[in-house]
Amino acid sequence: MVKVDLDHIYKEYPDAAEGTYAVADFDLHIDDHEFIVFVGPSGCGKSTTLRMIAGLEDITKGDLKIGGQIMNDVAPKDRDIAMVFQNYALYPHMTVFDNMAFGLKLRKYEKDDIKKRVDEAAEILGLTDYLDRKPAALSGGQRQRVALGRAIVRDAPIFLMDEPLSNLDAKLRVTMRAEIAKLHQRLKTTTIYVTHDQTEAMTMADRIVVMSMGKVQQIGTPAEVYDTP
Ligand code: ADP
Ligand code: ADP
Repeated sequence: MVKVDLDHIYKEYPDAAEGTYAVADFDLHIDDHEFIVFVGPSGCGKSTTLRMIAGLEDITKGDLKIGGQIMNDVAPKDRDIAMVFQNYALYPHMTVFDNMAFGLKLRKYEKDDIKKRVDEAAEILGLTDYLDRKPAALSGGQRQRVALGRAIVRDAPIFLMDEPLSNLDAKLRVTMRAEIAKLHQRLKTTTIYVTHDQTEAMTMADRIVVMSMGKVQQIGTPAEVYDTP
């Protein structure tokens, strides 16, 4: 629900050879509500870019703007961003409810508000009947939904996902792909989704950013990038 600008962003890791950039001149302007997919082979700089947006990596050069404000030096916890990773670690000893409520409790949300938010996210994700279960008693897809739930309960205006489906089997990936797309239609959160899977990029993206060796090769709609009608 907010614009994100990446203005000529570079990343040079401290231990890299002088002048070797993991990401070079990444320039992208993301609109409100857009679903952007970064696609490209392993090592091309997708995660590094995502981690710079989240504040988990410093930006070497260039500006990151969120809602027009330069965010380069803002701590991750102050960025109002939700994230889902590939290895969506759930707390095994906590119930689904407590896993989803965890970040809200940390941030001292009121008890009633926590319950309302978790119930609503559970409803959206079809987890209402599973709130008292522990992660071990869930299927892979349900666990993935809990990870999504944990990310959406705060209503953060920006949603970052790094290969969220790559640990799931092929059939479940197709199902979850559709569910994430549906979730986006409903929440309209500005989303950046990282994958090496062209099918995911093609089916989910408003715009695709094709990366290779740290550089943006192409930015366009799925039809433009993959030349399909
Ligand atoms: P992708 O997400 O597309 O697989 P990454 O962003 O993880 O790519 O990596 C981009 C480049 O940066 C690669 O050459 C990788 O080896 C390098 N890299 C990633 N993380 C680090 C790090 N912490 N320190 C040094 N180099 C890194
Ligand atoms: P939020 O994403 O809203 O900050 P989370 O509940 O996702 O809240 O996570 C809070 C913190 O706990 C984060 O730093 C996250 O990486 C960490 N965390 C979440 N689940 C686990 C886990 N199973 N094991 C270790 N750390 C975790």
